[in-house]
Amino acid sequence: MTDRTLLLAGNWKMNHDHLEAISTVQKLAWALEDAKLDDSQCEVVVVPPFTDIRSVQTLVQGDKLWLRYGAQDVSRHEPGAHTGEIAATFLARLGCTYVVVGHSERRADNHETNDVVAAKVKAALGHDLLPILCVGESLAQREEGSHVDFTLTQLEESLEGLGADDLQGLVVAYEPVWAIGTGKTATAEDAAEMATAIRGRLRERYGDALADSTRILYGGSVKTDNVADILVSDDVDGALVGGASLSGPDFAALCKAAV
Ligand code: PEP
Repeated sequence: MTDRTLLLAGNWKMNHDHLEAISTVQKLAWALEDAKLDDSQCEVVVVPPFTDIRSVQTLVQGDKLWLRYGAQDVSRHEPGAHTGEIAATFLARLGCTYVVVGHSERRADNHETNDVVAAKVKAALGHDLLPILCVGESLAQREEGSHVDFTLTQLEESLEGLGADDLQGLVVAYEPVWAIGTGKTATAEDAAEMATAIRGRLRERYGDALADSTRILYGGSVKTDNVADILVSDDVDGALVGGASLSGPDFAALCKAAV
């Protein structure tokens, strides 16, 4: 047991338009209530596409739901001439608490380097958004045994230029690329090994207070029937969930299984 609040974040990726988002959040809220879950047991977060955020905000704030929400990416730039980008300040004004940064799909599809990811982490923190920084190795790196070194280097480079004071509220998601959307889940031991290594590196670089307060999630094919196992280690503080967060009732069942 730790003082860190269990965090279950549902990354919808590019699924659900704004109408589907409303129905999904309503069903999630009802199912959480039926399951008698509340914010004393865990923090539940939905991370919809940008175009859904206003709808989610209206629902959450209008119905005073205890759910939180975030965005899947953020611009590294301040508002200005950057066509197609979404500034951190816009997300903050829409009531987002979190922003996912450096997801492996963005690193692959949009060639996001660690430098770019670090600039996005900085932009998010500068507007009081809590980054969920994704790191994790490929299958080839795991098979050759370089997964820990690779992931820790990615972590350090993605936080370049930031100090312990800047990083309050940071969340790190360990997401082995080979486990995302593949149905292959890391074992509880794999997740624990990496979460412990990440916390250790945060301790070395930023000191005890930041290492002890930073939540470290596991992500990669987490489902209702494997989430409890994944969370056994004291260093794993929650999960970043893709496919299994798309249905409100299913995500609520997963959250129930996690507490
Ligand atoms: C993710 O998108 O971050 C993820 C972990 O996806 P999935 O749960 O579908 O593997």
